[in-house]
Amino acid sequence: MRVAVLHAPRDIRFEERDAPRIIKPTDAIIRISAACVCGSDLWPYRGIQPITEPTPMGHEYCGIVDEVGSSVSSIKPGQFVIGSFFTSDNTCPTCRIGYQSSCQNRELVGGAQAPFLRVPLADGTLVATPGLPSEELIPNLLTLSDVMGTGWFAADAANVKPGNTVVVVGDGAVGLLGVLSARQMGAERIIAMSRHETRQKLAREFGATDIVTERGEEGVDRIKELTNGIGADSVLECVGTQESMMQAIRSTRPGGYVGYVGVPHGVELNGEELFFAHVHLHGGPAPVRRYLPGLIELVWNGKISPGKVFDLILPLDQVAEGYRAMDERRAIKALLRP
Ligand SMILES: [Zn+2]
Repeated sequence: MRVAVLHAPRDIRFEERDAPRIIKPTDAIIRISAACVCGSDLWPYRGIQPITEPTPMGHEYCGIVDEVGSSVSSIKPGQFVIGSFFTSDNTCPTCRIGYQSSCQNRELVGGAQAPFLRVPLADGTLVATPGLPSEELIPNLLTLSDVMGTGWFAADAANVKPGNTVVVVGDGAVGLLGVLSARQMGAERIIAMSRHETRQKLAREFGATDIVTERGEEGVDRIKELTNGIGADSVLECVGTQESMMQAIRSTRPGGYVGYVGVPHGVELNGEELFFAHVHLHGGPAPVRRYLPGLIELVWNGKISPGKVFDLILPLDQVAEGYRAMDERRAIKALLRP
């Protein structure tokens, strides 16, 4: 089979690799229905995160179970399943308190931009949908594998409650789905920080009430103006840079919450500033597995359509164009069909 492999910065190739096989009795092989390019794939693509050897790419996936290992009992061939980018046994103490992305036996999924994928710890990682989905539902279900689950965690970690004022820093797919999540959780006012017209439009469609185009100090001043001079109750940080993290912390009111899900690159926090900021910080890799059953239900019943973040759909063999379009911000998110 042919798969997407990153050889060097900006060098994605679609090349022949062996199809995955069951290695451990807890594995499953799934036939990918749709995969996509993640904002976090752009870190190695841009050379900011070094790669040491040719690396099969992709960690967002959904598809039909092709084969399971001998000890897999809850997942069966023929089911349509979604899993997280971190596998989890869903039984260890960390999983049981709902932090499956820190599972004691977790493995990072890679190589999902391919026709087939091996998923370790299949029973604890994969969640089956109530039946086989229609074509239209597949993009919505695919987002649950990462970006929708991550946006949801950002809002949950930022303690979004009915009536809250929420700020979302970052207008990538995760930030936009953070807006959608905050709306679902009952936020009254949702301020999206974006200077990109098509993304502002989608943010409004997902429930944003205000748009702030300023960044950095100016952005923080603008948020304060909109929030009685004190900042927002809940702020979702969905980028991962020093500037975005400080923008998030400084936009939060005393006693408020920052949910941070952007993978940090070069972020350093000043202890004294944190001390006087009086804010709660909670973030990390989203425990997507915890949210999968609830989010599948919301998608299945047509309550949310997170798949709208896919504004570019390509056959898998054009994966390199998907990366280019996202790198150049021509596309919010590229969906790939094997
Ligand atoms: Zn675990």
